[in-house]
Amino acid sequence: MRKAFESLLTRKSALDKLQASSKWMSEDLEISVTDYYVKFHIKSDEDLELIMSDSLKYSILPLDYEIVAQGTIELEHDDLEDDGYWIYTSVPKAYKFHEGILYEVLEELFLPESLVEGNNASDRRDLKGSDGLSFLELLEEESLVMTGNLDPNERVNPNSPNLRSYQRPQGFIRVQNTTTGINDPVMGVKVKTRRWFKWGSGYTDTNGFYSVDNTYKYDVNYEIVFKNSRGFKIWPSIISLSTASYDWGKGSPAGRSITFSTNSSAWRFATVNNATVQYFNYCTQFNVGLPHSDLRIVASDNTGSSSAPMLRRVWGLVGFTNNSQLSTFLLKANGLNIVLNLIATVTKFVQPDIIIMASSSLGTASVSSVTFHELAHASHMRQAGSAYWIKYINYIITYGAYGSGNGNNNGVCAVGEMWGFYYGYFLTLQHFGNNNNNPIIRPIGLENFTPFQRPSDKDIIRIGFPVREMEGWIPVGLLHDLVDNNADLIRPGFTDNVSGYTISQIFGALRPGVETVQGFRNRLLQNNGNRQQQAVNNLFEAYYYN
Ligand SMILES: [Zn+2]
Repeated sequence: MRKAFESLLTRKSALDKLQASSKWMSEDLEISVTDYYVKFHIKSDEDLELIMSDSLKYSILPLDYEIVAQGTIELEHDDLEDDGYWIYTSVPKAYKFHEGILYEVLEELFLPESLVEGNNASDRRDLKGSDGLSFLELLEEESLVMTGNLDPNERVNPNSPNLRSYQRPQGFIRVQNTTTGINDPVMGVKVKTRRWFKWGSGYTDTNGFYSVDNTYKYDVNYEIVFKNSRGFKIWPSIISLSTASYDWGKGSPAGRSITFSTNSSAWRFATVNNATVQYFNYCTQFNVGLPHSDLRIVASDNTGSSSAPMLRRVWGLVGFTNNSQLSTFLLKANGLNIVLNLIATVTKFVQPDIIIMASSSLGTASVSSVTFHELAHASHMRQAGSAYWIKYINYIITYGAYGSGNGNNNGVCAVGEMWGFYYGYFLTLQHFGNNNNNPIIRPIGLENFTPFQRPSDKDIIRIGFPVREMEGWIPVGLLHDLVDNNADLIRPGFTDNVSGYTISQIFGALRPGVETVQGFRNRLLQNNGNRQQQAVNNLFEAYYYN
């Protein structure tokens, strides 16, 4: 920077064109360190939380590294160095480094922005002379050219500072919806921009429109980070060290737009992101409790079974503490065979709440429907508590996904899955249409339910693509019969005479301690003044829960 300063001083003609009154223009200007370019060694999720609590903007790629190729960027287990990974950022000179987090100062920086308060466009206006280009800007450009960070051809000629104007990056982020054929807005994701050490960011709105909080004169690096404005984060796999991110490469400071099609790995991040936002909105509409706001959702590039381990809430609590338990859970619930030394990565960095198999080959409706189902579990878990959830996890570890309904704590599974399947399918019908265009389930799918008595290997059997019929000992149809007004025959001798319970009342009965279907019935009646008590008891008996 000092060299750049001297270089500029030799070009007095350029300086003369600048406002002499500019408060920063002085041959006495002291070029001193304002910031440090640093890297931090992140060894656990807690380390990263500490750095984030300092409001630092960081990257998992070195900041002096030009990215040419576009695509998703991901740190995996193989990228671990000494059981951790590096993140890159700049910190003010007075920054208090955290004890216990290893760091390295890579460069001393003189950032003109740091001479004024803040790092945004309105503050930076102070740096400008009346002709639009200040001494400090010129100084910064000179140093960027000298260090190879600004193409001299791209630069405004300092001898005629004409004034390439600052522009605010903005545009639209969309994702291909394979079910409707429409490109949907990607809602609430973060677009990050960076030029040298100048950062900007903004979230997309419900139209997928973003506008970042900084302005630039030259091309900037763009990144789309799947950390949602609602608080949840999408992760690319269960052994990833970092959240899902799409590196968009360099682009115009005026902004740009993109649509993720099924051949982009960001398709699954965007699709799960949108289904989660829609789920949150439906919970508000139907008065069902929301999941924890800081959910971590893995959008895995796989087909197969999804799950809701809620690891961040339950890992390390009594009953769920060892790696082989988690390894068995992932195998039985998701068919994922994770070797034990990778399990440590899962528990130290990701701690997923939800694991969604979200391969683009599944299509939008399928990925959304599964996301609704698993988030229904997340709402239930938040209300029922961690003790309930650990029983559920241990049931799956012991008996496989649902078992025969005969093992210890089978009621925990029956209550959990009747709610997960019912609310998941209800929202799928709500979202993709209560009609024949819905590729997942037909409206009759919930009504045509044949109950089976436990024990039975028929847990929850779905018949037809889309689903037209179900059967099993997990009484999904029971919840539908509480809500609907139809007096249909459940099985010989049993007619559904219950009507008019709401989804909100059903969810309201999923309290801590409600660990059997009969316990759920009792709580539902108790919460609602024993409404239609005889008919409710008959209905539960029809499903073999009396
Ligand atoms: Zn489930």
